Amino acid sequence: MSKNLFRNELASIIPYVAGKPIEEVKKEFGIDDIEKLASNENPLGPSLKAIEAIKKEVENIHIYPDSSAKRLRQEIAKTYDLSYENVVVGNGGEQILQMIAQAFINTGDEAIMAATTFGLYGSSVSHMGGVPIKLPLKAYKHDFEGFIQKLTDKTKLIYVCNPNNPTGNIMTGDEIDYLVKNVPDHVVIVFDEAYYHYAKVNKDYPETLEVLKKRENTIILRTFSKVAGIAGTRVGFALTSKEIALEMGKVKGVFNVNKLAQVAAMGALSDKEHIENTVELNYKSIAMMENYFDKMNLEYIKSNSNFVFVNVGMDSRIVFERLMKKGIIIRPGYQWKWDNWIRVSTGTIEQTEKFLAKLHSIIKKD
Ligand SMILES: *Cc1c(COP(=O)(O)O)cnc(C)c1O
Repeated sequence: MSKNLFRNELASIIPYVAGKPIEEVKKEFGIDDIEKLASNENPLGPSLKAIEAIKKEVENIHIYPDSSAKRLRQEIAKTYDLSYENVVVGNGGEQILQMIAQAFINTGDEAIMAATTFGLYGSSVSHMGGVPIKLPLKAYKHDFEGFIQKLTDKTKLIYVCNPNNPTGNIMTGDEIDYLVKNVPDHVVIVFDEAYYHYAKVNKDYPETLEVLKKRENTIILRTFSKVAGIAGTRVGFALTSKEIALEMGKVKGVFNVNKLAQVAAMGALSDKEHIENTVELNYKSIAMMENYFDKMNLEYIKSNSNFVFVNVGMDSRIVFERLMKKGIIIRPGYQWKWDNWIRVSTGTIEQTEKFLAKLHSIIKKD
């Protein structure tokens, strides 16, 4: 095939590695009993209100969805005391990230981000011919001083993954204030808050809606995939200024959020109890893991997400393979060049117990 057939930027993009699907592992290893703790999904399943809404709507799928998803955007806006014109919805937060890169990045524009963070920031920017500027974490956190030093005339975007994936920890309100104060107004700051409901339990977690109120070039990204438990229907959204929302609307697919997804998201949005139960279970699962890691003297990062990043003192490729053979799927840290670390999602009490028992059988030093 001719070398020049594809867009030049594709040559430098490494395909995203998603969590291994359960069905694939079942086939490959001939085991039936599998726990997937690899993609930070909701262990309690979807909100029943989302399921009900889909059942009702399914009879209408011969009709195109509302391309502007106006009702959903209104419902989201109401939750945050905004107008629907401040809300952009996408086929997952993933698509929102693509839309951001498409709306802002010209060839050679720069975007500043952490070196160990969600991979789609870098790839979406590269795709548009932009240059991701990646700064190593400092004491496991975004290095905001470094971010500020890297600002140039070409800087368009700054990505703050808060809590950060895969490390799970938060940047505090004070740290966010420091960043915002030192970034010129024309640079767009993207706060990826995919794990917002888990994180806000921590009183130091910032309310970035306050930043948005004062600073137009701000985008807050949220998703229905994590705490809301509807990862499979794909809905994510951005809260931003009307001007940015309008421009992002120009690059979106016309019917980018399908009919079932729109109603499922509205159902999930109204189900506060499901969210509370999920967050409560989450911190039980985290406590069980931390307890074990402490006992075993394993280094881990304090998480305010629904996953924990832990140094298991062994090559994560091996731990990943061995856990998989025992029916547990996790995410190996080598994918982020953290060879001895693994990222494991929180689960039900039973799933967490099973994970810890299987992990113990692999790493115990006797
Ligand atoms: C899961 C996740 C998203 C969005 O996921 P979607 O399923 O595409 O909505 C965005 N950012 C981070 C950091 C995530 O972990």
